[in-house]
Amino acid sequence: MTSLLIPSNARDIGECIYCVFVGDSLGKEHAIPYGLNGPWTLLRASCPCCADITHRFERDTLRGLLSAIRTVLAMQTRRPKKRPPNIPLVLESDGAQKTIHVSPTEFPLYLPTPLFPPPGVLVGIPPTPRISTQLRFVHIAGPSFEEVGLRHCVDFVGTRLTFSPEEFARTLAKIAFGAAVYALGIAPFTNTPIRRAILGEDPCIGHWVGSWTGEPMNEAKGLHAMQIRSSGSDIHVILRLFAQFSAPEYLVVLGPADPDFVKSEAWPWK
Ligand SMILES: [Zn+2]
Repeated sequence: MTSLLIPSNARDIGECIYCVFVGDSLGKEHAIPYGLNGPWTLLRASCPCCADITHRFERDTLRGLLSAIRTVLAMQTRRPKKRPPNIPLVLESDGAQKTIHVSPTEFPLYLPTPLFPPPGVLVGIPPTPRISTQLRFVHIAGPSFEEVGLRHCVDFVGTRLTFSPEEFARTLAKIAFGAAVYALGIAPFTNTPIRRAILGEDPCIGHWVGSWTGEPMNEAKGLHAMQIRSSGSDIHVILRLFAQFSAPEYLVVLGPADPDFVKSEAWPWK
């Protein structure tokens, strides 16, 4: 198994990478969402229908799981005027909750990192629509929850997350697939099972997406990092979002590459 690092520029595709539609209405696709300051842009790469589907689960992940980190780190937004000046924080004491709002510099910033089992297809688990998840929090900036709790004399400090593990996993699948198309073009992906998983036609996203449990593959530096590897003629992507904060890595299985592509000079893993 050898890996391939991806360069950073835009790549023109000329068909919808999700449903292979060809036509004038194709739009730009960011492998990593714009709102996560993502590199790797694909031009003429998604049709309006598929863009609707992918934007919906990306938006839920960005707003539900990563909203505070995007505000505190002042990451890109298409609507800067709508960025809240303060961030809600939930305090609980004697069973009673109240919400206060604190400035980004006073906010106890934690990165929520969902941990999954490895992709089911690699460990022989039958496909299932639910993906089991543990949520781990990595402290990034500002005071800790404990410090805020002591300051306000409360038992519990936290933030509200509306989070669907399946939508997050689908976001990871979309990022990994987009990045792989960015690196290799669309030719290897004539038959990848990840398309149906991204579009929700295959509900068993945990079959293809999971945590990476091997040695770290991407260094803990830079914002986002990714490596594309071959396992025989299968293509795997190991993805590390928020790498500099020592976030965990994920493995996305893109399945068998097109046999003609594997035989061609373009196959990078001879
Ligand atoms: Zn499409």
